[in-house]
Amino acid sequence: MGETLRVLMVASEAVPFAKTGGLADVIGALPKALQEVGVEVKVLMPFYGQVKQSQVPVTCVAENLEAGEGPLRLAFNLLTPAAGDYPFYFVERDEFYERSQLYGTPRGDYFDNLERFAYFAGTVLPVCQSLTFKPDIIHCHDWQSALVPVYLKHKWSAVPLLQGAKTLFTIHNLAYQGLFAKDKFPLLGLDWSLFSIHGLEYYGQVNLLKGGIVFADAVSTVSRGYSQEIQTPEYGYGLEGVLRSRAEDLFGIVNGVDYRDWNPETDKLIPATFSRDDLRGKAVNKKALMEAYGLDPGFQEAPLLGMISRLADQKGFDLVAAVLPELMARGVLVVILGTGEQKYHDWLQEIAPAYRGKLGVKIAFDNPLAHLIEAGADMFLMPSRYEPCGLNQLYSLKYGTIPVVRATGGLADTVTPVDPMRGTGTGFLFTEYSAAAFIKAINAALTAYRNKTLWTKIIQNAMAEDWSWQTSAQTYLKLYQRLVSGPRERS
Ligand code: ADP
Repeated sequence: MGETLRVLMVASEAVPFAKTGGLADVIGALPKALQEVGVEVKVLMPFYGQVKQSQVPVTCVAENLEAGEGPLRLAFNLLTPAAGDYPFYFVERDEFYERSQLYGTPRGDYFDNLERFAYFAGTVLPVCQSLTFKPDIIHCHDWQSALVPVYLKHKWSAVPLLQGAKTLFTIHNLAYQGLFAKDKFPLLGLDWSLFSIHGLEYYGQVNLLKGGIVFADAVSTVSRGYSQEIQTPEYGYGLEGVLRSRAEDLFGIVNGVDYRDWNPETDKLIPATFSRDDLRGKAVNKKALMEAYGLDPGFQEAPLLGMISRLADQKGFDLVAAVLPELMARGVLVVILGTGEQKYHDWLQEIAPAYRGKLGVKIAFDNPLAHLIEAGADMFLMPSRYEPCGLNQLYSLKYGTIPVVRATGGLADTVTPVDPMRGTGTGFLFTEYSAAAFIKAINAALTAYRNKTLWTKIIQNAMAEDWSWQTSAQTYLKLYQRLVSGPRERS
């Protein structure tokens, strides 16, 4: 290894180009933070239809590079955005990536996701060759780039440019595994011997995520709590055994926040900025938020509870449904912003009219509105079944929007329970996944809200927390260094 550590980050989404969830925030911020600690980073991502349509100026770095196997042996172009803080590259192959969404529509996943992301993983070698880039570390994320460690071990091991490269595979959400029918396996260009219990086979199907876990030099998840939980049957989604077998190489590194984007003192997307010492802007934002959702202006003093979320089973909407009537009956305001599964779209659209003026629902992906919710709500709800890290609770802390969360994964790691007697803590937690436990935590928050001195203290505690990327970038750097210099070799 030379003086500077060279890292290729391979990911399927990144802010500001394309986003469905927290992964995009991480890829939009971690490379910058790594650069600041002296790492040389390049990022590789597909060139999606939405990036193309956003008309980000791009230039073509290389045309007609080849990747893939057999029928998937196809050409792609390598593009780069005209401006940016660090080298960023797009894989352009329109038949795979020029779609309205990244992975599928509310009705289901795209039928050819294996082809799309196997192809993407396969571009790593030609991209490195084209750029004459010899990475020390290839850092891959989630099932969409899980094949990279597999290819590195089983297809590219003799390529001098990639010799010595180590892989780190980060799991942002274990529930999304990239599961496909066995008859698609040949498209991966791997020997059938890898379709085994020690390879990518999973109950008769192809499991890309499992390939990443088995063949990466190290595996990480996005909080310590989650890295432990996923080794148990309750959270392991059938992969707990495989994860336990990698326990020595399994790490938990909590995500950070990009405070350049999420800071109430400088946020350009909210009507009034505010700070820990001057909270007046928060009331202005609350008013604007209530207007945006058409809530009854007579309720300005009522507590306003916000949610911004993928509408998926993971996020605990069954608990929200169970507690909503009681909250509405008690004059609490609730605003929800989300997109996701059709059943939740239908449910929210069905119930919203019954609570007009007190419940606001917007089915959309709307970043400015997400900022307004963080800035204007009094509390933030995250009753997740599981939460690998969770970012919204971290944004909520910074905006003094007190989180009420289930004590799981990254939520338990980042929210400190309030002690009303001592005036300590940053949020309200509950453990059992039940409506009763959830409403008890909300009630504790509502009681504290009525005590203005205590509430202001909790807001100030929350806003004082620092979850910036610097600390996490240092931890990743240490892990990279350990991988590069480590004596342990895996076969
Ligand atoms: P996950 O990755 O499981 O979706 P996280 O809390 O880690 O959850 O990250 C979600 C990210 O996506 C946050 O930045 C959040 O603000 C954003 N987000 C989720 N849904 C929406 C939406 N409907 N509109 C705008 N932003 C959203």
